[in-house]
Amino acid sequence: MKNIKEFIKVKGITKYFGGSDKPTLEDINLTINEGEFIAILGPSGSGKSTLLRTITGLVESDYGEVVFDGKKVTGVNPYASIVFQTFALYPWLTVRENVELGLKAKGFPKDYTRRKAEELIRLIGLDGFEEAYPKELSGGMRQRVGFARALAVEPKLLCLDEPFSALDFLTAENLRTELVDLWQEKRMPIKSIIMITHGIEEAVLMADKIVMLSRNPAHIIAEIKIDLPHPRNRKSPEFEKIVDNVYKLLIKGKTENNEEKKLNKSVSSNKENGEKPIQIPNAHVGVMSGLLELIDDNGGKMDIYQLGGDLMMEIDDLLPNIEGISMLNFAEVKEGDIFITELGKEFVELDKDESKELFKKQLKDISTFRLIMNVLNNKRNHTMKEEFFKELFKQHFSYNEIEGMMDIIIDWGRYAELFTYDHDSEELYIPSF
Ligand code: ADP
Ligand code: MG
Repeated sequence: MKNIKEFIKVKGITKYFGGSDKPTLEDINLTINEGEFIAILGPSGSGKSTLLRTITGLVESDYGEVVFDGKKVTGVNPYASIVFQTFALYPWLTVRENVELGLKAKGFPKDYTRRKAEELIRLIGLDGFEEAYPKELSGGMRQRVGFARALAVEPKLLCLDEPFSALDFLTAENLRTELVDLWQEKRMPIKSIIMITHGIEEAVLMADKIVMLSRNPAHIIAEIKIDLPHPRNRKSPEFEKIVDNVYKLLIKGKTENNEEKKLNKSVSSNKENGEKPIQIPNAHVGVMSGLLELIDDNGGKMDIYQLGGDLMMEIDDLLPNIEGISMLNFAEVKEGDIFITELGKEFVELDKDESKELFKKQLKDISTFRLIMNVLNNKRNHTMKEEFFKELFKQHFSYNEIEGMMDIIIDWGRYAELFTYDHDSEELYIPSF
């Protein structure tokens, strides 16, 4: 056995943003050893990027500290580099010049810079494209340049913030395996990798350990060691078993959060004003109905992971839909299984108009929709700009969350005929009957 050497220690990190009384990160404690590849898994908006930025010194925490290689992190950590989802390449510079950039900034001599860049370009599979400009490259190639640029400065810690999520599946899969190979063969002088992801399978495929974050606030709900040897096979029973376990933990975290939301709802519903909107998951009415029918056809109960397989749906796409039908009280999740409720059965079995009515009734139980209806009902023309609601939600959600959420709110509201939407004027309104 190799000696285990502590490399990074995150101690009691808590971070508040913008005067909010609820932290984004709450009491995060984490030890990363030399030679470890850690995946941080959590739902979108949970604070994964913030945690990474805290570790690299780009964000200062309110409480706690990060110790890196025996030293407390103060200010930007020069021994860490980050690869983002989409890498900002300079369009007027060639691939070689883009890679050399980081080296030049560090003041390395010209011939060293040149040699190092060439070595990296080869390592990362870009040879032949040295003199190409970013616009001539595919998304996958551009991301390769991003990797090369991050590696150019010989960081001790390589941070990856969802680096594959903007790529098509095959390109992403190639890059994933190549990166794991480089890491396994120790061809990069890196001591540790931290990868942020919201994909369970990606985490199980690549990492030695998964650190699972809850959201709102983010704290660590589980650490799961993955002992499978590389190369890992997504189709092997051992792989699927780990994915299934991680999945169950994640669902458990989510349903516990839902309980909390329900509680919040009953407390705040007495207050006429100041009702807090809850986040609406990225779930589509068509998909939710289809899911409910499928569960009903299967005797009212299904294993969620199995369900994902049957529908050929990525878990990341399936989960929000499951959250959706749970939020509407059409289904319940327990221990990785999903059960249809009496209401859910009704929804499936009623004829179209009646099931719409039921859907509408359920929507009125969700604070976000109540808030919207309050506004529309109180306007004399029963019309309000979409932008108004976006502004309203700004106090509660991030910009990205709101953009996706408004489309879903409109999808649900229109289906229920609670309100409708005019694309030209970008307004929500209650039609007069
Ligand atoms: P994730 O990477 O898990 O999607 P982030 O770390 O980007 O999540 O964001 C977590 C939360 O913190 C979000 O609600 C986001 O709006 C908020 N947040 C992140 N950065 C800032 C910032 N600089 N100022 C204010 N709020 C922020
Ligand atoms: Mg992020």
